[in-house]
Amino acid sequence: MTDLAERKMRFLYALRSKGVTDARVLTAMEKIDRGAFVTGIFTDRAYEDMPLPIACGQTISQPSVVGLMTQALQVSPRDKVLEVGTGSGYQAAILSHLARRVYTIDRHRRLVREAEKIFAALDLTNITAIAGDGSHGLPDQAPFDRIIVTAAAEDPPGPLLAQLRIGGIMVLPVGQSDTVQSLIKVTRAPQGYEYEELRPVRFVPLVEGLAQD
Ligand code: SAH
Repeated sequence: MTDLAERKMRFLYALRSKGVTDARVLTAMEKIDRGAFVTGIFTDRAYEDMPLPIACGQTISQPSVVGLMTQALQVSPRDKVLEVGTGSGYQAAILSHLARRVYTIDRHRRLVREAEKIFAALDLTNITAIAGDGSHGLPDQAPFDRIIVTAAAEDPPGPLLAQLRIGGIMVLPVGQSDTVQSLIKVTRAPQGYEYEELRPVRFVPLVEGLAQD
């Protein structure tokens, strides 16, 4: 077996051993090459289960956390999904395999531009990437069947709760930045919202407004 094939096998094994058991999620993560989303000196570590630095001082999340969040989101093939926090585009690419349509938004134009290039190269045609402040959601495309936020807010942003379809699910980290945050699953019931705490996580903060770059 080549070194790369062996690293990819270990990668999938690490996902399973950390609780990513959903077959559709594992298949999507097997198909989407994390190596395509990591550049420069970190390319070598693309198949390790750790977050890595990307441009604009941001990070590509730890693969097992991506897997667990995607699994908790219970995406079905007809779903329209919103991701807040495009970053490298890795999470959006995995969602694109599971959902009908993916909208992903980041406050850094540069990250959106770079992610769009990778989506085109991988022929992922059902993703729309947008530069903007994702804490306001995307009112034009609402409601969403699923919403995933990959940056931590102190509380679930109101506009995102409002843009979740009844019966829809949102997964997001909440808590102060620079401390341990909680991954939360929110389900919108006809009469209100149900909250479930999943596990401790650590994400970069959700920051207001569009960035300079
Ligand atoms: N999902 C990404 C990792 C995201 S890192 C991946 O798969 O690589 C978190 C991202 O959230 C950063 O790129 C940051 O710029 C973005 N972000 C932070 N606050 C935001 C906001 N208000 N609106 C949109 N994006 C935001």
